[in-house]
Amino acid sequence: MKYEVIIVGAGPGGAFAARQLARKGIKVLLLEKQTIPRKKPCAGWVTPEVFKLLGWNPKRLDILLEEMRGAVLWIEREPFHTDYRRPIAYGILREQFDTKIVEEARSAGAHLTDGTRVIEIEIGSDRARVITAKRKAFEGQIIIGAGGTYCPVAKGSGLRKGWARDELGITISSETRIGKEKAAELTKYRGCPELFFMPWEMSYAWYFLKQDYLSIGLGVRCNLLSRDKSLKSLLDNFLNQLRELGRLDEGMTLSPFRGYSYATYFGPTGKTYGNRVLLVGDAGGFSLNSSGEGIRPALLTGGLAAETALDALSHGRFDEQALKGYEDKWRSALRGSYRRGSFLIYQLRHTTITEVFFNLTMKDEDLRRLLYFDPFYNVVPPKKTLFGILSHIPKLTRYAFKTLISGGKPLSTLWRPDYPK
Ligand SMILES: Cc1cc2nc3c(=O)[nH]c(=O)nc-3n(C[C@H](O)[C@H](O)[C@H](O)COP(=O)(O)OP(=O)(O)OC[C@H]3O[C@@H](n4cnc5c(N)ncnc54)[C@H](O)[C@@H]3O)c2cc1C
Repeated sequence: MKYEVIIVGAGPGGAFAARQLARKGIKVLLLEKQTIPRKKPCAGWVTPEVFKLLGWNPKRLDILLEEMRGAVLWIEREPFHTDYRRPIAYGILREQFDTKIVEEARSAGAHLTDGTRVIEIEIGSDRARVITAKRKAFEGQIIIGAGGTYCPVAKGSGLRKGWARDELGITISSETRIGKEKAAELTKYRGCPELFFMPWEMSYAWYFLKQDYLSIGLGVRCNLLSRDKSLKSLLDNFLNQLRELGRLDEGMTLSPFRGYSYATYFGPTGKTYGNRVLLVGDAGGFSLNSSGEGIRPALLTGGLAAETALDALSHGRFDEQALKGYEDKWRSALRGSYRRGSFLIYQLRHTTITEVFFNLTMKDEDLRRLLYFDPFYNVVPPKKTLFGILSHIPKLTRYAFKTLISGGKPLSTLWRPDYPK
């Protein structure tokens, strides 16, 4: 069958691209290997910009939503509570959230074929072909690769052979329905996810409630794992910490933890477009390194890929040169987020001076917002963070001076929990 655009993967990136194209009257095929609704391991927090992109009003949604007003950052036994006193993010269930986007794409006219795994693509001079595991072929002018970390379009087009170990985040997570009563008694920080930063591991763990669902998990950079420091040992340690804090009670059975990896780097390291091909979301490596946020970048790039494909269809040109504008578009939309993320990561690196600085600034709620949570939750645009930092120079200078006179002894050594060596 012939389509104008074929999209592989019905996650947020692919489904949103399908919706946008179908709304413009384009003949779109959306192929998904799982059956919709599908499960996806995820903490499930999204920033308000996500709703703006989707055109959804969070006050009038028919899916589960938990308002998040800030966060609690645990540094060993000390909680640093940051409250914005307004919703800065929302907790969602991926199964419901992702399905809603797919349904909107279908209502707009996109053709969904789920339960269909793509195994190969072929790029010809006059068309592109997608071949499924059952040897069925579909033809189109452009293919959008939205198949997540190991997208067959990224591989088949030669745009990406694999991922370097330091590009990949390895996660393990579980989401359990615990009931309203239990949810009400487990933590006093309702509406504020509890984050457990492990800067020396360049990773963090989370614990938060979305109505009566409990989400627990952790992520770590793949190259920092070793036989002595396995994901399992980090998870066991984290669960023990939660038990000690009373965040889990003995009789509770959690849903099984599932591992999953995806690229969370300083932006894509490879090309995201080629002849008749565009890559979006995790297939292109767009998730943010600072927080692991991937839904917003997937929607953003899905929307931009749809715009690029529309443009190409109107000109009848689908070669690499004609699709090049896609990269300029996503760079201008996401460059600020990647840069700000690098700045956040830089502060968390454990060279003595940044570690001491991290500890000192962490104690100041204003600076905590400005330096850690504004970037983490994308609360304000990146440029505003820069102006904020400039206006805090006197305070920052005072802290820098304190750092110097502390004799270079990293205060955080006091905070370092005993992770398995
Ligand atoms: C544990 C964990 C927690 C996370 N928490 C958050 C969070 O709280 N907030 C946030 O913003 N981001 C979070 N992320 C990141 C986020 O989940 C991803 O970045 C986001 O889902 C990317 O969307 P996508 O559309 O690119 O890919 P995906 O959502 O991965 O969708 C890809 C789709 O392609 C399909 N597919 C794959 N291969 C094929 C094939 N061969 N043929 C057909 N279909 C195929 C898959 O089945 C899947 O449905 C988290 C990730 C993990 C692993």
